[in-house]
Amino acid sequence: MTRRVALLGKPLKRRHSQVMHDAAFDAAGIDARYVLLELEPDAVEPAVREARESDGWLGLGVTAPYKKVVAGLVDEVEPDAERIGAVNNVIRRPSGRLSGINTDAPGFRAGAERAMERSLRDLDVVVVGAGGAAHAVVYACLQAGARTVTIANRTRDGAAALAERFEGVGRGDLRAITSDEPAFEAALADADLAVNATTVGMLHPGMTIPVERLPDSATVFDLVYVPAETPLVAAARARGLRAANGDEMLIAQAAIAFERWTGVGGMDEVMRRAVAPLLADATVRA
Ligand code: NAP
Repeated sequence: MTRRVALLGKPLKRRHSQVMHDAAFDAAGIDARYVLLELEPDAVEPAVREARESDGWLGLGVTAPYKKVVAGLVDEVEPDAERIGAVNNVIRRPSGRLSGINTDAPGFRAGAERAMERSLRDLDVVVVGAGGAAHAVVYACLQAGARTVTIANRTRDGAAALAERFEGVGRGDLRAITSDEPAFEAALADADLAVNATTVGMLHPGMTIPVERLPDSATVFDLVYVPAETPLVAAARARGLRAANGDEMLIAQAAIAFERWTGVGGMDEVMRRAVAPLLADATVRA
C-alpha cells in the first residue's frame, strides 16, 4: 500500500513541499507520496478524520488558512506548537492518534544559524512582523538563548500580543515596538540578526528593514523565498552584509517533518537538490 501525507490548505499554489517530500520518500525507499489537498473549509474536518482512521496515512502538512483549525481537530498538540499557537504538521501515531507539531520554529533556527554560521545564543535580534511566522521565529530565538528580541510590527497591537504570549520563555529581553518609531532604528543599530517575517517582498513590493541602519557585522534573514533574491536580500548584499532568503528554513522545516513522520533523518541534502530548480525558477510566482 502506498502511504500518504497530504498538505491541507487553500489555495495551494506552490509545489515546493511536494517535490521535497517525494524526493525524500524515494531516497529513503519508503512507499509513500505527498499529495496536495486544496480543501473548502467544511472538508477539513473529514480529511483529518480520515487521516486518523486509516493506516494509509503517515501524517498531514497544514498551511494557510487552516493552521489554527487543524490544531483544534487533532488529539493532542505538542507543547511548542501550543505555545506558538500554530500547527504546521501533524504526525499520525501507530494507534491512529494525531499529534499537532510546529516545525517552523526549529526550521527557522536551523536556517538562520546556517546563514550566520553561528548560534542564535546571546545575539541581539530584530524581528519585523507579528503574524504566524513571526511567532515561530520569536519563540525559536528565545528558546535558543538570544540576548534581546525586538519585535517591530507596523501595528503595535500585533507586536504587543506576540511579546505577551512569550513572556517567560528563555532569558532574553523581549520588546514590542512599531516599525515607524525611533526605537526601531536604534535596535537595528545594535542588531546581530535582522529578520523579515512579513509578507513584504512576496505579496507586497518593497522591504521592511532599512539595511543602511545595520552594523557591518549583521546578518539579514528574509523568510520570503519567492522571488529567489528578494528586494531586501539584494539591498543587504549591495550594502556588503551577509544575507539569506527563506530557502534554508523551508528545507530544514520539511526535513524535520519528514523525520517525525518516517523516523528517517538527514534528508536535507536530498530535499535541497530536489527543490533547487523550483527555487531558482523566476516564473514561480507568489
Ligand atoms: P501572516 O500571518 O499573514 O502575517 C503577515 C505579517 O506581515 C503581519 O505581521 C503583517 O502586519 C505584516 N505585513 C503585511 N503586509 C505588510 C506591509 N505592507 N507592511 C508591513 N508589514 C506588513 O503571514 P505569515 O504566515 O506570518 O508569513 C509571513 C511570511 O513568511 C510569508 O511571506 C511566508 O511565505 C513566509 N514564511 C516562510 C517560511 C519558510 O519556510 N521560509 C515559513 C513560514 C512563512 P500587521 O500585523 O500589521 O497586519
